Amino acid sequence: MPRTYLVTGAASGIGKATTAHLREQGHTVLGADLEGVDISADLATPAGRTELADRARELTGGHLDAVIACAGLAHFTPLTVQVNYFGVVATLEGLRPLLAAGTAPRAVLVSSVASLHPHDPAIVEAALAGDEEAAVSAAQDAIDRGEGHMIYGSSKHAIARWLRRTAVTDGWAAAGIPLNAVAPGTIVTPMTAPLLGDADMRKVVDAAVPMPLHGHARPEQVAPLLAWLTSPENSHVTGQVVFLDGGADAVLRGDGTW
Ligand code: NAD
Repeated sequence: MPRTYLVTGAASGIGKATTAHLREQGHTVLGADLEGVDISADLATPAGRTELADRARELTGGHLDAVIACAGLAHFTPLTVQVNYFGVVATLEGLRPLLAAGTAPRAVLVSSVASLHPHDPAIVEAALAGDEEAAVSAAQDAIDRGEGHMIYGSSKHAIARWLRRTAVTDGWAAAGIPLNAVAPGTIVTPMTAPLLGDADMRKVVDAAVPMPLHGHARPEQVAPLLAWLTSPENSHVTGQVVFLDGGADAVLRGDGTW
C-alpha cells in the first residue's frame, strides 16, 4: 500500500538514499533540506522549522504516514546542536499533527554511535530542558575550553534521550505512533568523506567507532532499516535506539547495558 513520507536531509547521504529507496518501493516522498528538494527549510531557525510544517501541510493536505528526520551536521559549532537536537525535535513535534491524521503513522530520527562518546552535560541538560539559547551558550563554552569536539556527540546523546522520554508519552505511544531512532556507525557520505580521505583522521575515526562487521557502511545500507521502522510492519517497536554500526556499540559498551 503506497504511503506518504517526509524525509529531512533528503538532498544528501542517508536522507537521499532513504528517499530513493522509498520511491523505488512506490511510496510518495516529500524531501526537505536547505535547498534542492521539495521543501527548502533551514531547520536551525524558528522560521525554517515553521516553514517545514506549513509546506508539508500544504503539499499533503494535512496527512503524513511517516516522518524520517535525517538532517544533521557534525561541525564543532553551536549550529550542530541547533540542527541535530532542536531541528529534529521541531520536525517531529511540528509534523505530529499530520502524522495523527495519517495511516499507520510512524517516525524515526537519526542519532549516532557518537551518542556513546564523552559528552558535555551542560549541552545535554540545556537541550533536554528545551532551552536553545542555553544549549548554544554551553556549546560556545565547550569551544572556548577547547572541547568543541564534544558538541556533535552531545547533540546525538541528547536527542537519543529525548527519544526515550518522548516515545512513551500520550502524544506518541498512546496515540499509536511508534517513534524510534537509528544510531549509525561510520557511513560513507559527504559528511564523513573528508575525514575518511585523510589517513590519520581515518585512524582516529576507526578507533572511536570500531566496526568489526564489514567496516564502514554505505547510506543505502541504512535506508532499509529506516524504512522498516516507519512501515506498518513495525507494530510494537518504540522508544528504541537501534544501532546500525557493524558491532561498534557492542564493542564500546559490551554486555554492561543490562
Ligand atoms: P550529509 O551531510 O550527507 O547529509 C545531511 C543533510 O542534512 C544535508 O543534505 C544537509 O544539507 C542537511 N542539513 C544540514 N543542516 C541543515 C539545516 N540547517 N536545515 C535543513 N537541512 C540541513 O550527512 P549524512 O551522513 O547523510 O547524515 C545524515 C544524518 O545521519 C545526520 O543526522 C548525521 O549526524 C547522521 N549520522 C551520520 C553518520 C555518518 O557516518 N555519515 C553516522 C552517524 C549519524
